[in-house]
Amino acid sequence: MIQLNSIIQLKGLSKSFGSQEVLKSVSLNIQKGDIYGLLGPSGSGKTTLIKLMIGLETPSTGSVTFKGNKLKANELYPSIGYMAQSDALYDELTAKENLSFMASLYGLKTAERKEQIEKVMTTVDLLDHLYKPVHQFSGGMKRRLSLAIALLHEPEVLFLDEPTVGIDPVLRKEIWDSFHRLKEEGRTLVITTHVMDEAERCDRLGLLSHGEIISSDTPDAIKETYGVTSIEDVFLKNGGVSIAD
Ligand code: ADP
Ligand code: MG
Repeated sequence: MIQLNSIIQLKGLSKSFGSQEVLKSVSLNIQKGDIYGLLGPSGSGKTTLIKLMIGLETPSTGSVTFKGNKLKANELYPSIGYMAQSDALYDELTAKENLSFMASLYGLKTAERKEQIEKVMTTVDLLDHLYKPVHQFSGGMKRRLSLAIALLHEPEVLFLDEPTVGIDPVLRKEIWDSFHRLKEEGRTLVITTHVMDEAERCDRLGLLSHGEIISSDTPDAIKETYGVTSIEDVFLKNGGVSIAD
């Protein structure tokens, strides 16, 4: 049954690459307005799961439902922002040129474009670097620019694959503050991470271990269910896989 405020529903989703079954019958409900964290060690299937949610990969079995309807990737794109795990940026172009190009793909009008570029670059604290070519950016700056691009068209749902990798703790906190502001605006965020303190800042977590969701609930409820004091311990109890790699 579809829950009223469910925005994404996964049912019995499996994915194999050749003989390797990467995801095993994943069923999940992501609620509108949540910051939903997918937490799992490297290789557990987080990126594959996000790609299935937005139609970049097709499931081997199972289904993805977006707002009550079967997922149709081309209809989905105006309502979502996606930040891939590896930055898809044009190195020779400036930040502004990268943003303008993506804004034109999203169909933003010229006046709106300028306003949105300033807004998103302020969010990620890069406004001073608008005219710098991307090859002069640090890894963390590139992550932030990718995030800015994902925010350009004010999407309803954001899919962010390891958005804070390579970003120092101070700025990471600021970026998480901006995630909470986006949530307050009514947006839904799906974020993969393998950082524990980030996991604790999510409304709900899906714990992924060897391609299976071993728990999906609020961080507190998960800890209570497993009788542990940290989320890390849940992974240790489930086959001894440490999250920190
Ligand atoms: P995570 O994001 O949690 O690190 P991934 O979803 O990237 O995990 O990968 C899960 C597993 O699936 C890994 O063993 C990876 O090698 C494999 N995998 C991912 N994409 C492909 C692909 N296109 N072809 C073959 N194997 C893949
Ligand atoms: Mg990944």
